[in-house]
Amino acid sequence: KRVKEPKPDWIRIKLTTGDNYQEMKTMMRSKTLHTVCEEARCPNIYECWANRTATFMILGDICTRACRFCAVNTGLPTELDLQEPERVAEAAEQMNLQHCVITSVARDDLKDGGATIFAETVKAVRRRLPLCSVEVLIPDFLGDRESLKIVMDAKPDILNHNIETVERLSDKVRAKAKYKRSLELLARAKEMQPNIPTKSSIMLGVGEEYQEILQTMDDLRAVDCDIMTIGQYLQPSEKHLFVEKYYPPEEFAALKQEGLKRGFSHVESGPMVRSSYHAHEQVKSAAKH
Ligand code: SF4
Ligand code: SF4
Repeated sequence: KRVKEPKPDWIRIKLTTGDNYQEMKTMMRSKTLHTVCEEARCPNIYECWANRTATFMILGDICTRACRFCAVNTGLPTELDLQEPERVAEAAEQMNLQHCVITSVARDDLKDGGATIFAETVKAVRRRLPLCSVEVLIPDFLGDRESLKIVMDAKPDILNHNIETVERLSDKVRAKAKYKRSLELLARAKEMQPNIPTKSSIMLGVGEEYQEILQTMDDLRAVDCDIMTIGQYLQPSEKHLFVEKYYPPEEFAALKQEGLKRGFSHVESGPMVRSSYHAHEQVKSAAKH
């Protein structure tokens, strides 16, 4: 069932372009870096950049997968830029970031899925900005344990891996990923480094039932996932999955309570919430957990 436009009025972009925002935008251009904030046209960009939080996309901007909700281009990537960790760290330093999120496209063409570059980027940011918290939002590395270990050994402040949707819709929404494989990754991350908080995210509005959302929460808690974010799916173009439902803010608020009841240390839930939204606050609450 496709929802007809217009979008409800709670889907809005707050247009507050402060100094930090402009400064960061200029710097991104000068370093030819990719941020998810810009490429995914994230609605929170003004707020996040003003709060000195940004999400860098490493390992190029062409993905080996083609999830039906995602605006990133699909193809055979050619890029493997060994200087990239240092450039991301330099940018993070110049922006004086408080919280730096590092993510990537899926690089199923690389033997380690890009894990080594992730680890090097975490270390490079640490060297230059010891007080900045570093979160990695990783692909599933096709379930490869060694690749995950390379990332965990770099000791990020948060290990984030998105489950994206409920189990029944996983094949439709992200055909090359697997619901169980994502849960297994989160479980293994905890086994390898029990003190590093884990985090996962789902987007709503692609046809899931309420009970299935609660089940996904239970599944994430069963692997001791600490932080959950829940946001509204917005269709990036006509070619992408339709929006089947716009959840009103009250339903997001109710889901937040369901999550907290289940023992997540932090649940960020709202129409405009994206995986790294308010991430710097999550580090603090997870540390208390
Ligand atoms: Fe960037 Fe994430 Fe903030 Fe969006 S929510 S602007 S992707 S840091
Ligand atoms: Fe987009 Fe990630 Fe899927 Fe690639 S793996 S298409 S970047 S969501």
